[in-house]
Amino acid sequence: MSDGIRRIAALSILLLGTGLLWVVGRSNNDEANAKNDQDATLAANRERAASSDPRLKGAYRYEQGGWVYVHLEGDPASLGFQHGFLLAPEISDAFPAISTNMTHSTKRDWAFFRETARTMLWPKIDAEYQQELQGIVDGLNARTGSTLDVYDIVAMNAFEELPDYYVPWLNKREQTANPPNLKSPGNCSAFVATGSWTKDGKIVIAHNNWTNYMNGERWRIIFDIEPKTGHRMLMDGIPGVIASDDDFGINDDGLMVTETTISQFEGWDPNGKAEFVRARKALQYAGSIDEYTKIMLDGNNGGYANDWLIGDRKTNEVAQLELGLKAYKLWRTKDGVFAGSNWARDPRVLKLDTPQFDPNNLETSPNARRVRWEQLLNENKGKLDVELAEKMLGDHFDTFQEREEANERTLCGHVDASPRGIAIWAWGQNYPGGAVQGKASDSTMAQQLRFVARMGHPCGETFQAKPFLAAHPEYAWQEPYLRDMPAGPWTEFHAGEIPVPQR
Ligand SMILES: [Zn+2]
Repeated sequence: MSDGIRRIAALSILLLGTGLLWVVGRSNNDEANAKNDQDATLAANRERAASSDPRLKGAYRYEQGGWVYVHLEGDPASLGFQHGFLLAPEISDAFPAISTNMTHSTKRDWAFFRETARTMLWPKIDAEYQQELQGIVDGLNARTGSTLDVYDIVAMNAFEELPDYYVPWLNKREQTANPPNLKSPGNCSAFVATGSWTKDGKIVIAHNNWTNYMNGERWRIIFDIEPKTGHRMLMDGIPGVIASDDDFGINDDGLMVTETTISQFEGWDPNGKAEFVRARKALQYAGSIDEYTKIMLDGNNGGYANDWLIGDRKTNEVAQLELGLKAYKLWRTKDGVFAGSNWARDPRVLKLDTPQFDPNNLETSPNARRVRWEQLLNENKGKLDVELAEKMLGDHFDTFQEREEANERTLCGHVDASPRGIAIWAWGQNYPGGAVQGKASDSTMAQQLRFVARMGHPCGETFQAKPFLAAHPEYAWQEPYLRDMPAGPWTEFHAGEIPVPQR
């Protein structure tokens, strides 16, 4: 319990400001020890009382391969309560890391993000997701006594869209003096293939998540969600967030979904609906490529603009939805492959939504990886399966230098190893970011709500925080949050699976 108490203490300090830091300094005296014992008893009592809450009925968690699997079921408020309760340690750990990232890059304080969540995002969130988000707050509070409220959780859910889409839009509009250099993120390498491209002629889908390591090493949840309405979903995710958000998920109506982010995207619609809400809703309610597209377009706010790669195992069709704000394009085929590595390709999206992006500069990470996908997918036409996809997600061939070298241009990204960083994403030299985990599935597995996932670099290498920070003191601000990211084994997860109880 003492670990939990320390985390709560750390959280309170973060929220209340540095004025309370002296309390920690005195925590080894007798009085503080007595207080800690008392707090621990209270917390244990609270946790015991809450664990018999009827809202937890049917929910459970277990850990495997570096991942935390949670099964959530029921009405929206119960889904949220279970999420907040079962993942309380992980949310308490992730919130300070995610919120610090948001405030550090934007030079805006947390109050700004809370206010944005309250006034701009909350009123347009569907009632069922409002209930689920409030449920997360209630579950977290019941377990830990956390003082986070629903606007903290909504702002955290929007961590991919507020800092790098809304804030630059706002800075431009308000003509903010010396605005920080904010660029929309370019996260992930992925493909979806079908027909003559795959070994069995059915769909194969694969994705690795690129993000900064301090967020990415926390992106280790497998959510098995059985909602009262809509489809059952199995997806990866980050604690406290209701969408997969990197994104990778399958539902029991045949949809298989992933995406890669559009680099150098510009634009925001303050009257739109949050991306994390649309993405979650689409996975929960869509049973076809058309339905998926319709939900993503409804209230499109331009936030976290992605190239969505979608498969429908019922029709064996795959699609790419390039979802700009001013323009979008849907391609679809029953015999083909769509790959993504953070580049847009529709001429209208390129012109209207990503005016700065140069699709012809083969030195940049998105284009170098696009070339690599073309090589690998063409070389393996007719052979693609989950096993091969796992290898591709860990690929280290740099097409610009034409040699093996894990860096910012390889499908398995290691930007910490690159003296160049990725300027078009505002990732500096040796930025501690890259591929943080991978997932893959196929039609047969998706029918049984199964996929494989590997935590850490998909190639199996371990990132070590201490030597990195010693070599790169410019990232010292991440020290409280950045930790080792050991790679786990490729591990299969199955919705509804209850493992043998671990002692
Ligand atoms: Zn690698």
